[in-house]
Amino acid sequence: MTVENYLAEHSSELEQQRNDVSLTRYTGRFAPSPTGPLHFGSLITAVASYCDAKAQHGKWLVRIEDTDIPRIYPGSESHILRCIDAFQFKPDAEIIFQKDRLELYEAILQQLQQQDLVYACQCTRKMLGSNHIYAGTCRNLGLDFAEQAIRVKVSDQDIYFQDRLQGQQCSNLTQDLGDFVLKRRDGIINYQLAVVVDDYLQGITHVVRGADLLDNTARQIYLGQLLGYPRLNYMHLPLAMNAQGQKLSKQNLAQALDLTQASQLLQAAFTALNQPPITLDTPARMLLQGIQQWDASRIPVGTTLHGCYL
Ligand code: GLU
Repeated sequence: MTVENYLAEHSSELEQQRNDVSLTRYTGRFAPSPTGPLHFGSLITAVASYCDAKAQHGKWLVRIEDTDIPRIYPGSESHILRCIDAFQFKPDAEIIFQKDRLELYEAILQQLQQQDLVYACQCTRKMLGSNHIYAGTCRNLGLDFAEQAIRVKVSDQDIYFQDRLQGQQCSNLTQDLGDFVLKRRDGIINYQLAVVVDDYLQGITHVVRGADLLDNTARQIYLGQLLGYPRLNYMHLPLAMNAQGQKLSKQNLAQALDLTQASQLLQAAFTALNQPPITLDTPARMLLQGIQQWDASRIPVGTTLHGCYL
């Protein structure tokens, strides 16, 4: 299917998605990947993105980033949905799931292919070894796109952006990042593509997420630029660490959020974000109070948060 056909077939649905959110005001989002149950680090991101949006009278959307089907951890999608309910977050639109939108990402890939902005790559992980920056081996081979990874061509360009917490950032696309994968050889659409397309289609204006994603931002800005999408505003939050000094993640067995402890966990998240004290009460009222007294300038500076061992 060509992008024109896809867009024509889904035009009213896509139009509706863009109209559901007002583009003239703050629209934020929380976009977890269901690769494990949500943990305290995820809660910090959810709370900060929610309060930052609501304090600016904006909207807040939830998107489940589940294109990487082999990495979905059983039960984690339902844990995410139960968390949204238990912590009493109120998304301003229906929650979307990226695995229902694969045709859309394919259509965008075809558009990039027609513009000669992507190429097929047959390099295996083994061939790439420990090189993190792709050397462009397949760039001019003109390989057939079927059953190969698809990479976007980057240009020798500096991407600058001002992060609200982490300050001025700059990466050179060729030297620091290299041509990056948009679709894997096994057919999985990469996060980089899906996140850029959906932030645009959902009318997102502000991204508040963990500092582990800071390095991806230049790639996403570049891809958005190729697709003609407006630039977003970024705030990358310091990451909650465990007692061993590692960031909380499924890999190091971060504890799943315990829904029976929602108020205590919310209190701890506001404390980690260095917000004024919250009166312990129901999650809905705590969030409301958190929004009223939200002050992003109080969030600790840096990329890690210590002393919140949950
Ligand atoms: N899905 C990504 C994650 O869970 C976050 C995406 C984003 O906020 O841009 O790490």
